[in-house]
This record gives sequence, structure tokens and C-alpha cells, in this order.
Amino acid sequence: MAEFDVDLFVIGGGSGGVRAARIAANHGAKVMVAEEYRMGGTCVIRGCVPKKLFVIGSHVHDEIEDAAGFGWTIGQVSFDWRTLVANKDKEIARLEAIYTANVEKSGGQVVKTRAVFEDRHTLRLATGEAVKAKHVLIATGGAPNHGPSIPGIEHVISSNEAFHLPELPKRIVIQGGGYIALEFACIFAGLGCDVTVIYRGDNILRGFDGDVRSHARAEMEKRGITILTGCTVKAVDKHGKEFTTHLSNGSSIASDKVMFAIGRHPNVASLGLEKAGVAINPNNGGIQVDGWSKTSAPHIYAIGDVTHRHNLTPVAIREGHAFADTVFGKRPVQVDHSSIPTAVFAQPEIGTVGLTEAEARAQFSSVDIYKADFRPIKSTMSGRDTRVLMKLVVDATSDRVLGCHIVGDSAAEIIQAVAIAVKMKATKADFDATFALHPTAAEELVTMRTPTARYVREAAAE
Ligand SMILES: Cc1cc2nc3c(=O)[nH]c(=O)nc-3n(C[C@H](O)[C@H](O)[C@H](O)COP(=O)(O)OP(=O)(O)OC[C@H]3O[C@@H](n4cnc5c(N)ncnc54)[C@H](O)[C@@H]3O)c2cc1C
Repeated sequence: MAEFDVDLFVIGGGSGGVRAARIAANHGAKVMVAEEYRMGGTCVIRGCVPKKLFVIGSHVHDEIEDAAGFGWTIGQVSFDWRTLVANKDKEIARLEAIYTANVEKSGGQVVKTRAVFEDRHTLRLATGEAVKAKHVLIATGGAPNHGPSIPGIEHVISSNEAFHLPELPKRIVIQGGGYIALEFACIFAGLGCDVTVIYRGDNILRGFDGDVRSHARAEMEKRGITILTGCTVKAVDKHGKEFTTHLSNGSSIASDKVMFAIGRHPNVASLGLEKAGVAINPNNGGIQVDGWSKTSAPHIYAIGDVTHRHNLTPVAIREGHAFADTVFGKRPVQVDHSSIPTAVFAQPEIGTVGLTEAEARAQFSSVDIYKADFRPIKSTMSGRDTRVLMKLVVDATSDRVLGCHIVGDSAAEIIQAVAIAVKMKATKADFDATFALHPTAAEELVTMRTPTARYVREAAAE
């Protein structure tokens, strides 16, 4: 009898797990994937994809408003939340089936059940079955984290529930200043809800470039979103269908829903990690891995959100692919986590890659900033009060473009292409040598000639 039932057991059928399973199976490995909820994981079922569908739906209102300046008269319009949710669910079910089919087509087996470690090589399925695996990949992702318990926390929803609300709330309070909180704030505001964002820090979007943070905040406020910073939610009371949210600054807000999006934790609980000899990273609570995504047990690897490195789908996919090539494809690959482009699908959109101004100034002795803040061509006719921000952060010594930050329509689409240049270590001279494409907003990226600021560290200047 063979020592192992499978060459690879993948725990979690999300973005990273599915990619790893398919590539490993293509390399000839016998693969089993366990998924306890729905194949596709967070991104497909309750993350990037349904969110983007909601974002697209919430933009329609702006298009209708902007149409008047271009001569259109649009009659009575109405919006039906249930149709949006139902059509989104249909699309998600289609994608879920594709994820299962893709694993099976590659020769892998999908088991729709929870799996936990029984010992270093044995996985116990919720069905009772035990599976012996030569290698194990932990790809269990993460989950919303509401933080320390407060009175009334049971009334608070997370992004998971926001995708399935039976009715569109008229008023919603959202605690959080990160991309998930702000994307939902803009979705709900775009659909006509009265939105209040509560954030404990001094400004939203911690970790983003300072100009992006202030520009995005101002733009969201222009769209009617109330953003209260420097305070937190202390308690939530329920009265019938209504909620009262009590804040640390002594004020309170009435709403129809209260949502928290204040962070996510890696799914490590009750996995039996101690039985498998898998250590937790004390700095972030995720599974501790090395540059190959190998855990403290040499035959067990972990990728994606469960390692709490860069919690983004393309990162989980890249890590899963690299793992499978390394372990089963005789092609050792380490993932380079530098210059990961990111977007916030807020209104307006934010796209960013590379270093922020603050990071660049901390790391480089001489930094040039190129910045353009302008009215987009569409708003000259629509009359919408909105402005675009484009910013390049350049190492003045080598002329290399270290970072690019955009707030405005299609920022995410633009930044995907700019990320290639930044990854290739393009210089400002390369940007300048590139023809502008006129008339676009993105042409600003290749036409900004004079730095708006130059920072030279004193010690370096001497
Ligand atoms: C609201 C929201 C919006 C997002 N938007 C974006 C975006 O626009 N762009 C982007 O790049 N990223 C986005 N993300 C992040 C992205 O979804 C994650 O980074 C990505 O899904 C991580 O993939 P993963 O494979 O590590 O884990 P997941 O996709 O979370 O998959 C883990 C899977 O493991 C399963 N599982 C857990 N434990 C077990 C067990 N013991 N047995 C069996 N199965 C188990 C879970 O059910 C889950 O399906 C968003 C996330 C959220 C919540």
C-alpha cells in the first residue's frame, strides 16, 4: 500500500489554493483540494469580484447625473437592490462552478468539506475520512475581524453580510478607514444611501501616500459621505429596525445598518497546526513562512492571506504558482513582493504602485515630486465638482521612478500599465521620452516636466 494517498493536499479552494492545485496537478502530482464553504474563496465569493460588480452598479447614478451636460434628458429612473444582488449571485455561482471544473480538468480532486491536521501528514476531513499527504499547502485565507468586543457587537455586519443584505439601507454607519470600508462607503453612497465613515486615525487610508489620502477624502466628502476621524464606535443599540451607534467622542448616529471593516485576521484557528509542527508568525498572527512559502514543517507550505503578507488576490495566486513550480515542477521560484500595484475602487478610484513620498524620503537622500491636480475633461461639461490627482515620486540621484499615485477615473486601469514601467525600473527620462496620448488624463504622467517639490536630506547635501 502506498505510504501517501496524495502528493499534495491543499486546504482552501480560494485564489491561491486553486492556482497551486492546478499547477501541481499539471506537473503530474496527485492533488486533493478541500474547501469548507464555496470554491473560489474570498475573492470570488465575497471579495474582489462581487465588490467590483457592486462598484460598477453604483457608478450608474453618476453617469445619469453627468449625462445632462452632454444634452441627455433621462426620465424617471429607479434602482432595485434585489436585482443587483440576484444578478451578482448568479455570476458568482457561474464563477464558482468554473473554479471547481478547472481543478478537476487539471486532474485534481475537490472535496467540499473542512480539513484539519491530525498529525504532520494526516488531514482529517469533516466527513470523518482521513487523508495522508506527502505535502500540504495551507491556503485558508482570512476573515473579517471586528476587534475587541463592544456592547451591541452582535448587531454589526461585516463585508461578508453586506453582499447579501435583503434590503438596501437608507442610512449606514461604516467603521474603518481602509480600502474595504471606503469601497463599501462609496458603493452605498452611489446607490443613494446616507453614509457615515468612522475612523480612529487622523485620516483614512493609512499606508497610502499623504496626498492621495487627503485628495481621496476631499473627493468622498464632496460626494456627500460624512467622514469622522479620531473616534471609534463604543457601542451599538438596536431599537426595532433602527440602530444607534455611540462614538468615543460622545456623539451618536442613527442608522439602518452598522458595518465594521477594521481589519482581517488569518484563518489559523482550530486547524491543528500544533499537531503538524507549523509555527505562527508572532509579528502578524499569520503562518510563519520563509521566502519559498515553507512553514516550520519542511513538507508544509502556506500561501496567500493566511500568511498575512500582502493580502491581495494576485499575490496569493503568484505565491501558489511559485510553490507548485518549486515543489512539483523542479523549477524553484521565489516571489518578489516589491512594487505590487494596488487599487481602491472608491469614487473616485485610487491606483498606486511603488513608494509613497514619505517612504521615498525615508529611504533616498534626494527625492523629486511631480504632481498634477486638475479638473478632468468630462467634468467641464457635466459640471461635476471633482479633481484628478497624479503624482510621481522620483529618486533624483538615479532618476528612477519609485512610485506613482493616481486618484481619478480609471486609476486602477492606468496603474496596472504604469506598474510594468516601475517594475522595470523606468526613469523619469523614460517617462518624458514617451509620447503623450491626447486627450487623456494619463498623459499627465509623461508631460510633468518640472518637479513640484524637491527634498534633499541635509546630511546628503553637505
Ligand atoms: C471585501 C473584499 C474585497 C477585496 N477586494 C480585493 C481586490 O479588489 N483586489 C485584490 O487583489 N484583493 C481583494 N481582496 C482580498 C482577496 O480576496 C484575498 O487576498 C484573496 O482572496 C486571498 O486568497 P487566498 O487563497 O489566500 O484565500 P481565500 O480566497 O480567502 O481562500 C481561502 C479558502 O479557504 C477555505 N477554508 C478555510 N479554512 C478551511 C479549512 N480548514 N478547510 C477547508 N477549507 C477552508 C475558505 O472557505 C476559503 O474559501 C478583497 C477581500 C475582501 C474581503
